Amino acid sequence: MISARADLAELQVLPAKEVAAFASAGFRTAAELIDHLPKRHEDRRSFDRFPNQPTPVAVCLRGMVIDTSKRHSGRGGGFYEAIVLDGTGGVFGSGKITCRWFNMPFVHKLVAAGQELIVYGKVKDSNGRLIIDHPEFEILREDDEPGDSIHLERIVPIYRNIAGLAQRRLREIMHLLLVQCDPATLVVPFDIDPVTPRHTALRVAHFPDSLEQAAAARRRFALEEFFALQLNVVWRRVRHLEQSGRVLGKRTSLLTAFYKNLPFDLTEAQKRSIREIIADMRQPRPMNRLLQGDVGSGKTFVAMAAMLLAVDSGCQTALMAPTQILAEQHYLTFRRWLEPLGVRVALRTANRDETNGIGHADPPQMVIGTHALLYDESLFGDLGLIVIDEQHKFGVAQRAALIRRGLVPDVLVMTATPIPRTLTMTIYGDLDVSLLDEKPPGRGKIITAVREGAKQTDVTKFVKEQLASGRQAYLVYPLVEESENLKAESATEAFGKWRKRLPGHEVGLIHGKLKPDEKEEVMRRFREGEIAALVSTTVIEVGVDVPNASVMLLHHAERFGLAQIHQLRGRIGRGGHKGYCILLTDGKNPEAMEKLKVLEQSSDGFEIAEADLRLRGPGDVLGTQQSGLADLRFTDFLADTTLLREARAMADQVIAEDPALEGSHRSLRPLIQEATPIPWSYLTH
Ligand code: ADP
Ligand code: MG
Repeated sequence: MISARADLAELQVLPAKEVAAFASAGFRTAAELIDHLPKRHEDRRSFDRFPNQPTPVAVCLRGMVIDTSKRHSGRGGGFYEAIVLDGTGGVFGSGKITCRWFNMPFVHKLVAAGQELIVYGKVKDSNGRLIIDHPEFEILREDDEPGDSIHLERIVPIYRNIAGLAQRRLREIMHLLLVQCDPATLVVPFDIDPVTPRHTALRVAHFPDSLEQAAAARRRFALEEFFALQLNVVWRRVRHLEQSGRVLGKRTSLLTAFYKNLPFDLTEAQKRSIREIIADMRQPRPMNRLLQGDVGSGKTFVAMAAMLLAVDSGCQTALMAPTQILAEQHYLTFRRWLEPLGVRVALRTANRDETNGIGHADPPQMVIGTHALLYDESLFGDLGLIVIDEQHKFGVAQRAALIRRGLVPDVLVMTATPIPRTLTMTIYGDLDVSLLDEKPPGRGKIITAVREGAKQTDVTKFVKEQLASGRQAYLVYPLVEESENLKAESATEAFGKWRKRLPGHEVGLIHGKLKPDEKEEVMRRFREGEIAALVSTTVIEVGVDVPNASVMLLHHAERFGLAQIHQLRGRIGRGGHKGYCILLTDGKNPEAMEKLKVLEQSSDGFEIAEADLRLRGPGDVLGTQQSGLADLRFTDFLADTTLLREARAMADQVIAEDPALEGSHRSLRPLIQEATPIPWSYLTH
């Protein structure tokens, strides 16, 4: 028996080269390696039939390589092709599949005619030939005879690749380690399931006897992982509640005056959220609340109400916007509604510093800006509340910085990204949540339509008609990487074309590379109607509010995420006019079409977010890097609310029993990550 905690190098069961390969992939001990669970299993007791048409899902085929060839394509690239003949256990049929690997010269050194191969991938049709591009593959060996092979005639683990190690070698090593490691060295501080010991579950997770067994084992490890995550969430929450904040919001005269001036009634959801916020602010501990509401649900007014309460209690408040454009826009909105109440509002961004005229000598009561304002120590003597609007960068570290400076403000985070419930629990699990699940009445309807291969003349005609009736339009283009320019035109290129297509109308251009004051100027001109059609990248995605803009053309729509398109189309239909969101696509990708159809049918942000999660997986939806989900091995389980709730309940119980993790559960203390990898916000678009 060997200790799973020992360094792989010390174990002397692996050659140095392999130990080095594992080290560069971040695996140091046997236990770490054993925790690298298979990404999937292949049931090699029976293979799929060779298909005679494209397959919507990946298939697993076994056959013989009968021919190979090397092809060159333009610009130095090339691909390697192997024709595989249907055959299992020496019996050959007539089916054939062509496997192709692009720009992977090493494959050609591995795969040769006469070999028996297992390939895994989706079959597509290319000019009448059935092809799998970049299949996963494994070359069988003569000695892979049925019987005791771990590679054949059983359910076989397939791992995420580790550079320098072939799949079968990895499988052999895993098997070896599982057999040789002392089970006692594979335990963790908290064994989730007292019935099946962890080491048994590990063995099953790698080498199961049935696919059901494998799934059950994966659930168990997902639960283990969620537990660690939730323990951190509950820990943070409890630590937060221990801090003392100040009691705000007892005086409501400003709020009352504000309500009087509003030309409309707040929605029930807005009122409810404001009540929840007031209750929080009146507590002698700092508020830590998330205000979640779809685009256009009226978050700004809720924020204003909260900020007025803070001002009424005699302290300062700040609103941080993710971009300069938005800070500007909020500043205008705030001035419009709050100047009449005599509130001193200031704008502070990297290149603008301005206060409305009122009582200029006094310090501002509300400061609106980008996150730069946080670092301006002179600005806040007495910060009572900070509101963060769609703030991607503001994280735990920034909040910690504020707290170090002796400020423990109430915090309200606003997001328009409708995150599925499970993800909210994971990412924002330590915040209280207010939900704006209702939209203000009287808003224009938005019609969303997918248009495949639309003719430019038709598109132009439509835009012209809309402009002629006095509306404005967004013409949105995806961000294009240098290496991709051939595929999709950029906003800058399109700008020139649109100017020619729309004679007599002012066309503007905005993208991320413009200087902040240039962006501001363009937005101002669009807001004021000087610019009729605005060619843009996704910089307009969040929060931009130009009520007269009612048309949005999204070019290469297949390149955008679902939730992102939903955000984008929230820019139109804001002024009571009927909105048109046209999703232009070449229609070549059936998956993309399926995705875009969701938007045609639904305008419910949550429904769309769920679909997005289902279609793309949470890593992509949230951006693994920023979401702290990168380390999660079981992200597909995020869709599983039951499992997450179970983990939450366990974490709650542990912390209730031992709040500081210094007593009976002190072995769990190492699971707490002070510098939490989970930031408050996770948008990465
Ligand atoms: P969000 O930030 O949630 O996307 P906003 O706060 O910008 O939404 O509000 C969207 C639009 O709806 C704004 O033009 C705002 O003036 C308007 N609005 C907000 N609340 C109401 C309401 N209760 N009744 C009518 N219009 C409202
Ligand atoms: Mg907003």
